[in-house]
Amino acid sequence: MKTSEGLTGLVIEQKGVVNIKNAPSHPRYKYFRETKEERFHSFLGIPLFERKAPVGVIVVQTREPRGFTPAEISTLSTIAYQISSIVINAKLLDFISKKEEERAFFQQELERMRSAGVIKEGPATGARKKGKIPVTLVGTAASPGSCRGKVYILNRRDNRGESDLDEVLPAEEEQKRFLIALEKVKIQTLYMEKRVAQTLSKEDAAIFHTHLMILEDRGYSGKVLELIDCDYGAVRAIREVTDHYVLAFSTMEDPYLRQRSADMEDIGRRLVDSLEGSDRSRPRLKEKRIIVAEEILPSDMATLDHDKILGIVTEKGDVNSHSSIMAKSLGIPAVLAIEGLLKKIGVKDEVIVDGTSGHVYINPDERVKVEYERLQRDYGVKRREMEGLRDLPAVTTDGVTVHLRANIGLLSDVRIALAHGAEGVGLYRTEFPYMARKSFPDRHDQYRLYRKILEGFAPLPVSIRTLDIGGDKGLPYFTYPKEDNPFMGWRSIRVSLERRDIFIEQLAAVLMASPHGKASLMFPMVSGVDEIRAIKEIITEVKEELTREGHPFNPEMRLGIMVEIPAAVQTADILIKEVDYFSIGTNDLIQYTLAADRNNPKVKKYYDPFHPAVLHSIKRVADVANRAGKQVSICGEMAADPMAAVLLLGMGISDLSLSAPSIPVVKQVIRQISRAQAVEIAEKALGMESCVEIRDYLEGVRKKLEL
Ligand code: PEP
Ligand code: MG
Repeated sequence: MKTSEGLTGLVIEQKGVVNIKNAPSHPRYKYFRETKEERFHSFLGIPLFERKAPVGVIVVQTREPRGFTPAEISTLSTIAYQISSIVINAKLLDFISKKEEERAFFQQELERMRSAGVIKEGPATGARKKGKIPVTLVGTAASPGSCRGKVYILNRRDNRGESDLDEVLPAEEEQKRFLIALEKVKIQTLYMEKRVAQTLSKEDAAIFHTHLMILEDRGYSGKVLELIDCDYGAVRAIREVTDHYVLAFSTMEDPYLRQRSADMEDIGRRLVDSLEGSDRSRPRLKEKRIIVAEEILPSDMATLDHDKILGIVTEKGDVNSHSSIMAKSLGIPAVLAIEGLLKKIGVKDEVIVDGTSGHVYINPDERVKVEYERLQRDYGVKRREMEGLRDLPAVTTDGVTVHLRANIGLLSDVRIALAHGAEGVGLYRTEFPYMARKSFPDRHDQYRLYRKILEGFAPLPVSIRTLDIGGDKGLPYFTYPKEDNPFMGWRSIRVSLERRDIFIEQLAAVLMASPHGKASLMFPMVSGVDEIRAIKEIITEVKEELTREGHPFNPEMRLGIMVEIPAAVQTADILIKEVDYFSIGTNDLIQYTLAADRNNPKVKKYYDPFHPAVLHSIKRVADVANRAGKQVSICGEMAADPMAAVLLLGMGISDLSLSAPSIPVVKQVIRQISRAQAVEIAEKALGMESCVEIRDYLEGVRKKLEL
């Protein structure tokens, strides 16, 4: 049976649980008479997969029709998780033992490499000499903020060879050293597995199982011992064998095995470090340093002392990588994806990292240092000034209160939002926790997370937005159809309404968490009233299910929609009757109104929040909500621009949700102006014909009122 056939194939295709009460009536049901498979009625399929690759399915069938309970699904998912790693490790060991059979070939290969000069026989090259020439590098700005300091280099490739041929002891002793190092690294691996499971998650810790299997594999250690027998020192033998495996893995067709090359490198490096006494497995930062690495590995994440990391700079990785998610949540400036970084940086270098612009200055000259110090000073002054505003209300000079709430995505944002004086959350982007995982979290995982967020802000409100994937926000374990126009395609609420299994899990989780704070539910990308009605029907079903199961929830939880499609603007008067509030998502509303991709720098000049079409759309939506006596807020980036905030207030919007660090700046302007002035400014701007005219006018107002 192909994976495109049958219900089991469906589990693989969907990369998710398939739970069907009456399987024979399902269009994908396929019966093979020749297998003499027993007839069954109900089907439950749970995928086994590691990272992105499905590796199998556990299937449970029953003769009698029955629905599988969430508790059964959750138990089987836990079993599936355990089995996945066994299947993967078996595959890996199988591969390694096949390699064992290629021993003869391996020996030949070694000879060939030696004669081709690929294997270094000469003395160590020593540390690369570096002049103190200023170098500026540009990478991906992954976590904002800046820092200056000395570096701590992880994964230094150019360290390699330093002690290769230093004093090779007699083979027996070298073998003893290797075996001791092997035991030490196994113990460290167990320690790291435990620590990662505690600090990150069980899934993140799973990789250390694989490391242990490799360390315990006789094929690997046998080859090292063999080379030591040929008078290679232990260090060099480890490197040669590791390199060989890395090369073999990295050319494999199977993507899972290809990825294992990084694990082989990690293991080899830790063995060498253990032999050399430089315990990289537990890098201890004596003082604060900027971490420079090819990439941040799971083992680094587990063991680095976060308080001593000034900044992070890497050769690989992107904004969704583990390292940048971690850096952002810890408030550590980070710049990623700088090609050739490790060749350009040395241990003695001094570095300035600007995680906001993505610049890294190596041995900066005086001019840059002075400029950086000035920036830091200004930043410090500004921060103190802003800290003074934290507990003051955002009230206009004529006594109108504006609510400034935070846009958040991660649990660690709670602390940051509260520190900036956020009055709750106007937009909780739930796709971020989904992105940091390896599979869809079930309702219980989500419940625990939402509960923490709600409790973190209670009694302040938190508007939880359902999954807004698609467009530019992908999930590593979810396959999308290939689309010519993904932003106009199958995304956001459209995915939720079709993948009801995923949607129901999320709705149930939010409802279950609702008694723990002031939650409301918000739906992205709504284009018409039918979607809202469909959503409400599903919510009713979920509520009934929770009632049946005896789960408490808030039956009165408010429902809102994001207004971010022109169709929703045009039909706002119809939509408002169905919901408790509107939240205008200007990021998308601008791109759809002006037909200018929000991520395409080529059309940046067309993507203008001050375009009259955008302003009139916002005004129309605000008027509709205000007339209906319902709440209307803004949660797009536009709200973080102080002059835009004045304009929005003047259009009747007194609820803004923005990234937490921008709250104090907006609050400062609100406290300097009256609503009457804001209304006048908005009326003038709405009477203008072009973006340029509106921008010039607002700039004039800002200068005149010294805002
Ligand atoms: C928006 O579109 O304005 C919005 C807030 O949502 P996102 O940026 O997550 O699409
Ligand atoms: Mg949006």
